[in-house]
Amino acid sequence: MKVTLLKYTKGGTDLIAHSARVSGVPDTIPDDEIVRMIVDNDYSSALEHISFTFDLEDISIALSRELLEHRMASHTARSTRYVEEEAFGYFTPKEFLKNEEALKVYTDTMEYIKKAYANLREIGVTRESTRYILPLATHTNYIWTANARSLINFLGLRLCVRAAPEIRELAKMVYEEVVNIYPEIFKNLGCRGINLSVCPENAVRDSVQGKDCPYKIKGTKGFIPTKDDVRVRKDW
Ligand SMILES: Cc1cc2nc3c(=O)[nH]c(=O)nc-3n(C[C@H](O)[C@H](O)[C@H](O)COP(=O)(O)OP(=O)(O)OC[C@H]3O[C@@H](n4cnc5c(N)ncnc54)[C@H](O)[C@@H]3O)c2cc1C
Repeated sequence: MKVTLLKYTKGGTDLIAHSARVSGVPDTIPDDEIVRMIVDNDYSSALEHISFTFDLEDISIALSRELLEHRMASHTARSTRYVEEEAFGYFTPKEFLKNEEALKVYTDTMEYIKKAYANLREIGVTRESTRYILPLATHTNYIWTANARSLINFLGLRLCVRAAPEIRELAKMVYEEVVNIYPEIFKNLGCRGINLSVCPENAVRDSVQGKDCPYKIKGTKGFIPTKDDVRVRKDW
């Protein structure tokens, strides 16, 4: 997977502060302080004025489906109708890399599908029909634009250990890009537990692939409570 930040709104801090002042925030408060307050207090509509466009190369179709669940964004993917996919690249989950026998089954299957794709094309089946044999692992390229508010929501959900490993990897790479440009917006952000100081995942804080939440152990530094831990109404 390769993540490139193609374009972003420059002067975003000014723009966010300006839009906040239009809504009544006093002129005496400095730009950085306004941005910090907006992020922390979740007065987030001002964050919608700045956006980021990423070129995502070699992500799996499975990941692109998860990305598409983030509806507050703009999505353009490589077409499997118009692009020949005979030599498709594909994602290999880490679990396969740790198991030689499973890896062989996986790679043999991919090679089999590639041959089948080529055979179908040779005997005259259209690309439009042949594409239905492509696996979810098939690499695709993607242009993805999201505003800062939507990105914070995306990062909150997908930096969580419960997110699928490939999209979590993407979230980490996206975070590195945006925090470099706008630390005043992103530097204190992370998964939803960090953003809210309470984890909405409640009893299910570990990933299915064995990555435990680093903030779940009571009494340790950095502990983030669940909603169940802090709920005022116990009859909920
Ligand atoms: C660990 C994990 C597991 C998941 N498992 C599944 C699963 O099994 N099946 C599945 O289908 N999805 C699953 N998802 C996807 C999840 O349900 C969301 O669709 C996805 O994370 C996008 O979040 P979102 O709706 O907040 O984002 P966006 O679509 O970008 O929306 C941003 C915000 O806009 C508002 N909004 C957007 N659309 C509407 C609307 N129609 N009505 C009202 N408000 C709206 C909401 O406040 C929303 O939070 C999973 C996500 C995670 C992180």
